[in-house]
Amino acid sequence: MTNSSPIAQDFLTRGRCETCPVVDMHGHYGPFRGIYFPSPYADGMLRAMDRAGVARVVCSSHTSLVDPERGNREMAQVIRDHPDRFLGYRAVNPNYPDQVEAEIARFPHDAGFVGFKFHPSGNCYPLTGDNYLPALEYAHQQRLIVLSHTWGASQYDSPEMLGEVAPKYPDATFIMGHSGYGEWDAAFGVARDNPNVYLDLTAAYKVAGIIERICREVGSQKALFGTDLPWFDPYYCIGCICFSHITDDERRNILHRTADRLLAPFLTGSQPPEGKQERRGSD
Ligand SMILES: [Zn+2]
Repeated sequence: MTNSSPIAQDFLTRGRCETCPVVDMHGHYGPFRGIYFPSPYADGMLRAMDRAGVARVVCSSHTSLVDPERGNREMAQVIRDHPDRFLGYRAVNPNYPDQVEAEIARFPHDAGFVGFKFHPSGNCYPLTGDNYLPALEYAHQQRLIVLSHTWGASQYDSPEMLGEVAPKYPDATFIMGHSGYGEWDAAFGVARDNPNVYLDLTAAYKVAGIIERICREVGSQKALFGTDLPWFDPYYCIGCICFSHITDDERRNILHRTADRLLAPFLTGSQPPEGKQERRGSD
């Protein structure tokens, strides 16, 4: 099978594409209950990133989804250790409103956090619920990014629910995690109707034709590359982009340009993704 994309050719022959540094907008960090990850910590994640030419990943620690104080502290340390490679989403657990306030108060004191991670399904609390309001208002005031897990037909975080929330906070940027997996038409409509809503491709890759549909029906400038690293290897996800029936211009938008644009306000004085990558021993 031939693939005429120069980006795909670079990945196939060199394992990475120097002119297309990948930015991963949906990562995690650390172990997760009941799952074996070979490389859940920074050293292993960096090895996977270096192999595939991933310049940067924006993560929430798994622990932070349940215990934000401990997990966000853990994430802050990873960012301090590797400021050119890791950025963070500060998770909040809406079941504990006083802790949501505490995480907002801590937000300005840790470098490298670009916004919040919501996992309404994981916390069994609706995205439209009142306990998220302080974080949403803060994200709007401070022009932050909110990555929310979304899933088709979920009672906690369906695309329709994100469509209800996003227009109320126009200065916040919303990333629809997993592109509302399964309820594609609804998710695409929310992304089209709201300038501040973007689609995250994590897990959506495995549905045949979905990347082509996003490029055609929403636009590649609204699509973001994500992996759920350390759950999935970047190569699998990059391969899905390389072998989709889209143009290299669209591949670049998905793999880094859209992310570069969203992250630019947070990277003042920091190394741009195109810059040096600390080379680590391969494999
Ligand atoms: Zn995730």
